[in-house]
Amino acid sequence: AAALADKFDYILVGGGTAGCVLANKLSADGNKKILVLEAGPSGDAMEVAVPAGISRLFAHPVMDWGMSSLTQQQLVAREIYLARGRLLGGSSGTNATLYHRGTPADYDSWGLEGWTSKDVLDWFVKAECYGDGPRPFHGQSGSMNVEQPRYQNVLHDEFFRAAAAAGLPANPDFNDWSRPQEGYGEFQVAQKQGQRADTYRTYLKPAMGRGNLKVITGARTTKVHIEKGSSGPRARGVEYAMQQFGERYTAELAPGGEVLMCTGAVHTPHLLMLSGVGPAATLREHGLDVVANLPGVGANLQDHPAAVVAVRAKPEFEGLSVTSEIYDSKCNIRLGAVAKYLFGRRGPLATTGCDHGAFVRTSASHSQPDLQMRFVPGCALDPDGVKSYIVFGELKKQGRAWPGGITLQLLAIRAKSKGSIGLKTADPFINPSIDINYFSDPEDLATLKNGVRMAREIAAQEPLRKYLQEETFPGERASSDKDIEEYVRRTVHSGNALVGTCAMGTSPSSGAVVSSAELKVFGVDGLRVVDASVLPHIPGGQTGAATVMVAERAAALLAGQTTIAARREPVPV
Ligand code: FAD
Repeated sequence: AAALADKFDYILVGGGTAGCVLANKLSADGNKKILVLEAGPSGDAMEVAVPAGISRLFAHPVMDWGMSSLTQQQLVAREIYLARGRLLGGSSGTNATLYHRGTPADYDSWGLEGWTSKDVLDWFVKAECYGDGPRPFHGQSGSMNVEQPRYQNVLHDEFFRAAAAAGLPANPDFNDWSRPQEGYGEFQVAQKQGQRADTYRTYLKPAMGRGNLKVITGARTTKVHIEKGSSGPRARGVEYAMQQFGERYTAELAPGGEVLMCTGAVHTPHLLMLSGVGPAATLREHGLDVVANLPGVGANLQDHPAAVVAVRAKPEFEGLSVTSEIYDSKCNIRLGAVAKYLFGRRGPLATTGCDHGAFVRTSASHSQPDLQMRFVPGCALDPDGVKSYIVFGELKKQGRAWPGGITLQLLAIRAKSKGSIGLKTADPFINPSIDINYFSDPEDLATLKNGVRMAREIAAQEPLRKYLQEETFPGERASSDKDIEEYVRRTVHSGNALVGTCAMGTSPSSGAVVSSAELKVFGVDGLRVVDASVLPHIPGGQTGAATVMVAERAAALLAGQTTIAARREPVPV
């Protein structure tokens, strides 16, 4: 392998959500030399910038990793598709742009000094630029652009009326921590005037011209080089391969430099294991030298499992759906939709489709909402969320229109089931094995079953009912408890919130991989993890904002501006 001539103070493995935040912040004062290695391409593609382009990003041949779980016997022997962005900006470039922090209780439940709700709130606020004017609990001067959704559909209002009729309260701001999360309302979005505000656009791009920042795309890291010196193991650099022609390179750290793992909740544990950091037995089984025996690497995998209820519109209301606003009767994009977007960044192309909804407790035994409903003013074509777009491709080939209707995607947002990431082989080009293990805790299944009933109840309220005809998923015949359970097991899919596989904590004996005080990998010098894998318990909301919060904190920590245990003065809200 050829060595890069420069040596670096920080090598950032992965130019994704967290990696782009760090690249900007760490290169800002010009004193440190930073290298970013990203396996995918740049994030400039139009389908990334335009929110509705998300429909083309699922299972994208280049910008998605195309991963699936191991076969899940409890889910009718299915493999679960797990989307992960593979481009600068990472999954912030392919996600649904929803901006949720979860609740104070989510962070307080971690029980980690320096990561209480009071601590993290400062950083959420500092990271955010809420573009629609001052609001309590929102920031105005951060890099992460947040705004209210810009696309309105009459069915959104009717959904709100139906939710109210079903007994839910209105919630004008799910990120206002002075009130309960429960209720229905608009979800804020990480967008800037209707354009996706992923961390490539908001953090990395403005820093690209800096002479001390080198960004290499198409560079897949295969191993962290860790030397077992007399004073203990220390990261010295990384090995990577260029995707196009497969040339191998090494990149080395300058004295005192560090490798920062930002490859996300699937690839960070994978790369650590390939580098000898992980459960010793697993490493040995694959002939890997053990540098640090850390059983928590790859364990504690959490996600938001999801199911849908979809109902067809009456023929006279077909045209109300967002899909009918985007596509004509032959499934071609309407010029009017394009014009609305180009000339005002409004209209149906300004939405990822699911930016209105509700948070609910499906049983009185929950102290916080266990379910998020994402309301889509369009009819799912397949009960397995993402597959709708594949069915859509078929419809388009046949020159048929996307039928109108509504969908409620139901997510178990405080799921307790735990899965794991393991090794299939020691070959770094083979993705790891992912045991998603949904419903290992039966409460998560109960949440989705109750969710199906509640979604039906909302759809049956007069404000929505007048537009609707028969239910397509699960379908009216699925009425008994057993039918609904069978439907959920057969169709559950990922809510794309993978976290927890290199959890932070105070000691490896309790399963932690990195210290909550410094995000350093236990037992290895010069190596930290800064991405969604460090979140020890999944927050009850999408996970992008929490990932940015972690990365902002890590950058300040590395720049010596703060320590994690010692709180800064709180930002007034
Ligand atoms: P990522 O952003 O995934 O970054 C990891 C990066 O590392 C990627 O760029 C990847 O290509 C790169 N990489 C991986 N392996 C290697 C390697 N070996 N060498 C070099 N580079 C490598 N969150 C929200 O807040 N709101 C939402 O609406 C939302 N919807 C989602 C929808 C989808 C389809 C997906 C996939 C996620 C969604 N999320 C959402 C979750 C959120 O986007 C993630 O939690 C967050 O982006 C994770 O950030 P990360 O930095 O940990 O990983």
